[in-house]
Amino acid sequence: MKRWVYTFRSSDKELAALLGHEPTLDEMKAILGGKGAGLADMTRIGLPVPPGFTITTEACMAYIHAGFRFPEGMWEQTLEALREIENEAGQKFGDPENPLLVSVRSGAKFSMPGMMETILNVGLNDKTLPGLVRRGGDERFAWDAYRRLISMFGRTAMGIADEAFEHVLEELKRERGAREDTDLTTEDLKEVVTRFKEVYRKHIGQDFPQDPLEQLRLAVEAVFRSWMGKKAVDYRRAERIPDNLGTAVNVVMMVFGNMGWDSGTGVAFTRDPATGEKRFYGDYLLNAQGEDVVAGIRNTRPVAQMAEEMPEIYAQLVDIAGRLERHYRDMQDTEFTIERGELWMLQTRTGKRTARAAVRIAVEMVREGLITKEEAVMRITPKDVDTFLHPQFDENEVKKAKAEGRLLATGVNASPGAAVGMLAFDADTAEAWGQQGKPVIMIRPETKPDDVHGMIAAQGILTSRGGATAHAAVVARQFGKPAVVGARDLQIDLETRKVYVNGRVLEEGDYVSLDGAAGEVYEGRIPTTIPDYGKEVELRTLLEWADEIAAAPDVRQWPEDYEGYPTCGLQVWTNADYPRDARRAREYGAKGIGLCRTEHMFFEQERLPYVQEMILNAEAAQMLFDRRSRIQGLLSTGKEDGKPLDEKRRAELEADLEALEEEIATSPAVKAYQNALEKLLPNQRSDFYGLFEVMGGYPVIIRLIDPPLHEFLPSLADLLVEVTERRTRGETGPELLAKERMLEAVKKMHEANPMMGLRGIRLGIIYPDITKMQVRAIFEAACQAAKNGITVKPEVMIPLTGHVNELKVTQVELEEVAKQVMAEQGIEVEYKFGTMIEIPRAALTADEVATLAQFFSFGTNDLTQMTFGYSRDDAERRFLVQYVERGILTENPFQVLDRRGVGMLIQMGVRLGRKTRPDLEVGICGEHGGDPSSIEFCHLAGLNYVSCSPFRVPVARLAAAHAAIRHKGKVWSASFAEPTR
Ligand code: PEP
Ligand code: MG
Repeated sequence: MKRWVYTFRSSDKELAALLGHEPTLDEMKAILGGKGAGLADMTRIGLPVPPGFTITTEACMAYIHAGFRFPEGMWEQTLEALREIENEAGQKFGDPENPLLVSVRSGAKFSMPGMMETILNVGLNDKTLPGLVRRGGDERFAWDAYRRLISMFGRTAMGIADEAFEHVLEELKRERGAREDTDLTTEDLKEVVTRFKEVYRKHIGQDFPQDPLEQLRLAVEAVFRSWMGKKAVDYRRAERIPDNLGTAVNVVMMVFGNMGWDSGTGVAFTRDPATGEKRFYGDYLLNAQGEDVVAGIRNTRPVAQMAEEMPEIYAQLVDIAGRLERHYRDMQDTEFTIERGELWMLQTRTGKRTARAAVRIAVEMVREGLITKEEAVMRITPKDVDTFLHPQFDENEVKKAKAEGRLLATGVNASPGAAVGMLAFDADTAEAWGQQGKPVIMIRPETKPDDVHGMIAAQGILTSRGGATAHAAVVARQFGKPAVVGARDLQIDLETRKVYVNGRVLEEGDYVSLDGAAGEVYEGRIPTTIPDYGKEVELRTLLEWADEIAAAPDVRQWPEDYEGYPTCGLQVWTNADYPRDARRAREYGAKGIGLCRTEHMFFEQERLPYVQEMILNAEAAQMLFDRRSRIQGLLSTGKEDGKPLDEKRRAELEADLEALEEEIATSPAVKAYQNALEKLLPNQRSDFYGLFEVMGGYPVIIRLIDPPLHEFLPSLADLLVEVTERRTRGETGPELLAKERMLEAVKKMHEANPMMGLRGIRLGIIYPDITKMQVRAIFEAACQAAKNGITVKPEVMIPLTGHVNELKVTQVELEEVAKQVMAEQGIEVEYKFGTMIEIPRAALTADEVATLAQFFSFGTNDLTQMTFGYSRDDAERRFLVQYVERGILTENPFQVLDRRGVGMLIQMGVRLGRKTRPDLEVGICGEHGGDPSSIEFCHLAGLNYVSCSPFRVPVARLAAAHAAIRHKGKVWSASFAEPTR
């Protein structure tokens, strides 16, 4: 018979027998759910846990698949487990004298806070109530428990609307002149019970079930069904939790935190979940039940205060916290109840935390010897790192806002970060506005699980009630959304959709700014700034460990037939065009520049006229130069068409050459062309000098001009319109002439497919003076820097090579320029010449390409474009988004590298390239260089580095280490198709 039910006491042994080995925590969670696994685990290590049992997640799925029927044997096993806990508790389910009451709670493998159902006090009925009165010594308490059961059961198990019960309660409170629930007397509560039963009968058409087993059965079914509830399904979509895991049901002996002032209940983290500080952190309430803490209805107290109110219990809790951390080797989030001075642990799970706390906890746990550096690095996600790089408010602007009296309210700093948006008073509005691209701050008195879709859509979350462990706080932290909760000065009127705060009124749609770290709410918009990474000591430490892990010499294994030299894991370099970008990237830990797009500087205002002059005259000038080289070639070889030159022909050629030299010397085109190049040279030289200076000693890859030249000229359509308009106005004169000249030039350059046209290496072949000027600038800057004591490692990168012969004609010439400059300057620097691999043919013939190229850099933007045949400029707008939506492609290949296709070319390129040149340096500089999944692939493909924009460098460093850890010791494999999720 299949086992569907495990008691906390025996689950570990029974699971071990079932699995044939000690169950791992993950296996326990998969079967028993997170809560069940935690309870069983705590029982095993001797912590005070009330007796209980778990019905497995598998039972839930079997129930759902069978059309909402318990699988065979499950109910019998439940009854058997119930008997076991009766024995342990010394109480009996349904026994009027000494009744056992249980809670019935959901608990999936992954925590889904508040998403599924809980029913307390199951087993209570008209007959067992007196037994509870005796146990609690308090009639009021027992009736209170009974009315809670009826409403919770009615709502959860039977689907009666909340309001039905709330309405009755409010009505009675009004009749009795009571303000709070606590003002109601025992007699009042008896009346509540009577009226709740009526509500139940009215809605269900039957009496509230008095049979405890019937209650239990329906409660278990309610929990199972809640797995398919809308809010749970929505939550799973957002968190990418699979639908087929199911939830377990935990049936646990009730213990009561509301049995007087020596009882209480609380939630506590073993470390501060907002900052990561090592201190026991949480809230508690005396004489209260668990929901009272979480719902934020009563004002909770910080758990540290227990040290005075209940010193012994506090000491016991702190001791348990330490034991739990040593056991789980991670920060725990616990729930506990004290019944008449006796402590019971009701839950432990890995605590959710802010990114900042995650990093601090990970780093400190390494220092405490609890975890390894690898584990610490694996515990941080790329998303965590990202939040350190997100906008924060400018301090001065905050001061200014304060001075202007715009601070509206303060509350609990529940989740850090700065958020600016328009107030939306409910989740649906927040979601709708979010979809329209509006920034939203969702404002509610408190949030409920039903509000999650709005929270996901919002920039930030603001509530007027609740504390650090309220729903709004927990969920906001999890999604990395800034949140201020419990801002009590806000009076939120959901009807009129207005907030009243200290004499001011805000309406829906008004802008506010939230500082989630300070817990402050401001009127209007506050400008944001980038956080100071330099101050993030723990993150920097963690990322240094990430670098160490990736750089370990043994992270990669090579297949037998690999012909290159072994390399360690990935370094992270950056794509930077300007010294300021390079500086930021270095601060973020970049170990080189993998791509400087030199043409970006050409667009600067004072340079563009020279660039245009260069382009407009290049063709005419080059024609003359080409003619000259042809004659020079003939004269120097002494042959024409394979035949030796005779005297006459030689004299003719010499005369031609003389005339041509004269023509060149006086040609306005040549003059303009050379003048433009001369103007651009010092500019480029100082650009490069700046980069060498910042990168001191790290490699700097400078790519020669790449885009089609028309990109630097006005658009054909604009010019056509302008010239036509001027002509119709009857205009003449130099301006029109200049425009006409430009129009002619642009027309001449027009290409049907410029992306596949005269660009990249082709430009340098057709107009070599441009790239020669660039190489001269690079080497003049490098020599100058070297003379000034800066270590320089220039690497000249030629874009868009498709055939080795292209490199043959251009690279050799350019290397000559490099040597010439170094000779002129009287200093040698270490350098490399290499190419981008952006065309499939280059990857396929990489062995040939590597005969010249000393390094490869995969330009995966173009390589993706050329491999798929999708225009990188238009595809997303036209069809690619639909492709992804319809599942034709799983990801946008311009964001996440396509492993099967583009990846195959990369893999081939690396192998073939290193076959020719075993020490070939290989990197990637397309946008994929900053994407974690693509970085994982780059690790597998044996690259030396990934290069990405400065803001992505920290994430890339983490992703490189993750890849190194996940794939440690794995040989280059054929598993390239499947990214690790
Ligand atoms: C690339 O193609 O991937 C690349 C980095 O070059 P660009 O984006 O400048 O074409
Ligand atoms: Mg490119």
